[in-house]
Amino acid sequence: MKNRRNAKFLIMDAVLVLMLLVLLFYGQQKGLWGIKGGGMVRQASSAAVSSAAPPSSALREQISVSSQPPAPADTDYVKVADYIPGVYVDLKYATNENITGHAIYDFVDAYLRYGTVKKLKQVQDDLNASGYSLKIWDAYRPLKAQAELWNAEPDPRYISRPSKPTSHNLGNTVDVTIVKKNGPEIPVPSGFDNFTKKADRDYSDVTEEQKNNALLLQNTMIKYGFNTYSAEWWHFEDTQDYPYVDFEP
Ligand SMILES: [Zn+2]
Repeated sequence: MKNRRNAKFLIMDAVLVLMLLVLLFYGQQKGLWGIKGGGMVRQASSAAVSSAAPPSSALREQISVSSQPPAPADTDYVKVADYIPGVYVDLKYATNENITGHAIYDFVDAYLRYGTVKKLKQVQDDLNASGYSLKIWDAYRPLKAQAELWNAEPDPRYISRPSKPTSHNLGNTVDVTIVKKNGPEIPVPSGFDNFTKKADRDYSDVTEEQKNNALLLQNTMIKYGFNTYSAEWWHFEDTQDYPYVDFEP
């Protein structure tokens, strides 16, 4: 009995194995198992090759796009508009609307040290909250542009001597006015580079509205770490100094 039962099981096992083999063969022919033509193997080997070899230029590009760029150092020069959304930039020295009557530098973007830009961003956020915005008239100024300004107006009250780098040449100083958040101008004591008494921070000779707008700008700039200059209501220097770098925008 025992032997007969074993033999019966052996036959059944053999039939089952045969059926499985037929099924496997049929499946491979029809590509049911995803291994027809050795596709799985090719894919695996190509993946193995690409992981061993240095990344292709396309892959490198993909990696650089997906990873966040490192934050700049405070001493780095950056384009202000890249870090302060909504800021207006109207560089007067890139146009003929200045005391020289011509452009004294050939770039139209405002550049400052990243440390200064971080402070200016706080000013912008604060002004935005009450419906206003910064508008930049001048920021980093190359030393050679300073010489042109000095030649046009050799008055040390308004123009720093170009003999050594100061304020605007250090990238921590900005000439800035205040406008409505959506762009329109508002009354301020004077236009840019107005070398009269209206330019100073004694607001007794301007209207109440001009004074209040200039004071809103002034107080907000001081709040976030800028020093003022008594002869020009638009001029602000970061309380943090940086060593001079001959930066080419
Ligand atoms: Zn200035």
